[in-house]
Amino acid sequence: MTDSLPLPSGHWPELLPGWVWLCGAGPGDPGLLTLHAVNALRQADVVIYDALVQEAILDWAPQAEHIYAGKRGGKPSANQRDISLRLVDLAGEGKRVLRLKGGDPFVFGRGGEEAQTLVQHSVPVRIIPGISAGIGGLAYAGIPVTHRDVNQSVTFVTGHDQSGETPSSLDWASIARGSQVIVIYMGMKHVERIAGALLDAGRPASEPCAVVCSATTGAQQVLETTLGTMAHDIGQSGLEPPAILCVGRSVLMRQVLDWQGMIAGEAPRNLDPLGRGRPAESA
Ligand code: SAH
Repeated sequence: MTDSLPLPSGHWPELLPGWVWLCGAGPGDPGLLTLHAVNALRQADVVIYDALVQEAILDWAPQAEHIYAGKRGGKPSANQRDISLRLVDLAGEGKRVLRLKGGDPFVFGRGGEEAQTLVQHSVPVRIIPGISAGIGGLAYAGIPVTHRDVNQSVTFVTGHDQSGETPSSLDWASIARGSQVIVIYMGMKHVERIAGALLDAGRPASEPCAVVCSATTGAQQVLETTLGTMAHDIGQSGLEPPAILCVGRSVLMRQVLDWQGMIAGEAPRNLDPLGRGRPAESA
């Protein structure tokens, strides 16, 4: 029973009437909620949640009204300004408001915009970070977002902007040149264009890539591919968003770190996928 899980004693903040807590729900697995998120779920009068928030997480707030504020069934998503103003109104009614967003609210989640509107309307806010899909989702696929033998930097990019197009402000050529590992959110729709831009800028067609769909949920699926074949392979696979695309050699580490496969009884495919020799922990 989730509601019998105690929070360790301590001074947990109280969600007061008239406040809005803007909280990340993580990528899906309820076990990846933070303790602050659980504390918030327990106290809220209203939970306003997005499409990427797993329904199971709402079970942690049975006392609260649940309001859906996302896109579903092809309907356009609720207007961002309407959502922000709804939060202002609910707080004005004296509700304890929990605004729950997938992953981390400040990572491609428009959390900054919502928080700004709240502050502009003098609504007191607390921000509760969450585990972002581009980090936690890859970890559930056995892909370390940084790995000493592969990358000392990582670039997070969004595959489309407000208009739904590939962001025109992004200089894909410099990203291709300057980023050892590229993690792409919302990249499925324009994968062909994105991969094409990276290839045009000189990334090798053989570069390892992974597509991690519905990461950390029971429906997680992982496709291992290469930059040259990624768009085609995604088309063939029938995989659907939400998905994180990862471009870079860290994807190879899945051959040894696919821990979910190992739980299911599979042997690691390759104990030394980067060919560094073993033991890998030396020096
Ligand atoms: N704030 C969120 C990102 C919101 S943007 C975060 O920090 O994770 C929405 C995009 O996030 C999706 O299109 C997808 O690229 C990614 N995403 C979110 N949850 C995901 C999941 N469980 N599996 C794979 N990708 C996910």
